[in-house]
Amino acid sequence: MLDVVIIGAGPIGLCCAIEAKKNKLSYVVIDKGCLVNSLYNYPKNMTFFSTSDKLEIGEVPFISHNAKPTKSEALEYYRRVVSSWELDINLYEEVEEILKEDIFEIKTTKGSYSAKKIILSTGFYDLPYKLNVPGEDLPKVKHYYDEPHPYFGMNVAVVGAANSAVDVALETYRKGAKEVTMIVREPSLSESVKYWVKPDVENRIKEGSIKSYFNSNITKITEDSIIISTPEGDVTLENDFVLAMTGYQPDFGFLEKIGIEIGDDEYKTPIHNSDTMMTNVEGIYLAGVICGGLKTNKWFIENSRDHSKIIFKDILS
Ligand SMILES: Cc1cc2nc3c(=O)[nH]c(=O)nc-3n(C[C@H](O)[C@H](O)[C@H](O)COP(=O)(O)OP(=O)(O)OC[C@H]3O[C@@H](n4cnc5c(N)ncnc54)[C@H](O)[C@@H]3O)c2cc1C
Repeated sequence: MLDVVIIGAGPIGLCCAIEAKKNKLSYVVIDKGCLVNSLYNYPKNMTFFSTSDKLEIGEVPFISHNAKPTKSEALEYYRRVVSSWELDINLYEEVEEILKEDIFEIKTTKGSYSAKKIILSTGFYDLPYKLNVPGEDLPKVKHYYDEPHPYFGMNVAVVGAANSAVDVALETYRKGAKEVTMIVREPSLSESVKYWVKPDVENRIKEGSIKSYFNSNITKITEDSIIISTPEGDVTLENDFVLAMTGYQPDFGFLEKIGIEIGDDEYKTPIHNSDTMMTNVEGIYLAGVICGGLKTNKWFIENSRDHSKIIFKDILS
């Protein structure tokens, strides 16, 4: 039996593993995908908004070419953290169920484990918000964006008002998409759009190089078109790709299945004690971005690195 099973090998799951190792507790990290799976699925050309020192964990220095690291630098960094600390991680193994008797029984796609404590650091990046319109299942509709090359010469619709949508619209426009159209449900772009990016996108919209429909929604997607409901009535546009940058949400079904209560606040915050990070299920802790529920911009790497310290203080008390 292990002292701790950590579910999720994102940056915060790794912090927890390091803390377990420092305190000589037996542990394993289990992830359904690759190491730092969420980061791996971020856009290829993205740059972190944090400087590299703020993304450091386990006292391993993170040196990047510029102050703010790229995705590939971050992937390399977290690989190096795992090697330096010789962390025990089982990848491509999904946790499906957790049963509690005196101890925890963790059932995965590959087997089972028993543990005294569980840390859930499962993030929020696996479940995209759906548009829920006819045609959303067509292969041309993407909820994750990788790189601009496939969209060269194509009519692209970008749905969303926040950083991801803005970055995708600007990048596809600059890398030769034929026409980029932003479709925004709200009357304006999100307040959270990075202040150094906002004037760029606003000016591209103003000059018409990026088309935009505010207070608007896609209502139907076909092989070669989209229908947009706008305040002036329905508009049909020729379309090759829909990039739905509408955000992601934590897997509340998984949390509820293991008995974690979800708050009735607007962000559906999973119930946990912020002094210990323990949930309403004795012995199950939360760490990282999952702690914010639907408020996915509340916790990030920079400010949740220390969740691991709070948790292990409680475990060892
Ligand atoms: C484009 C983008 C840019 C960002 N830039 C920054 C930045 O500059 N600075 C910053 O601090 N933050 C940034 N963030 C936020 C940051 O990446 C996240 O807050 C961070 O990844 C959270 O780490 P985590 O370990 O809590 O969760 P994650 O990194 O999401 O890790 C969760 C892991 O759990 C695994 N998992 C989920 N369910 C299961 C299961 N049932 N069984 C097994 N494994 C499971 C997933 O595969 C995943 O690997 C950015 C986010 C995005 C989207």
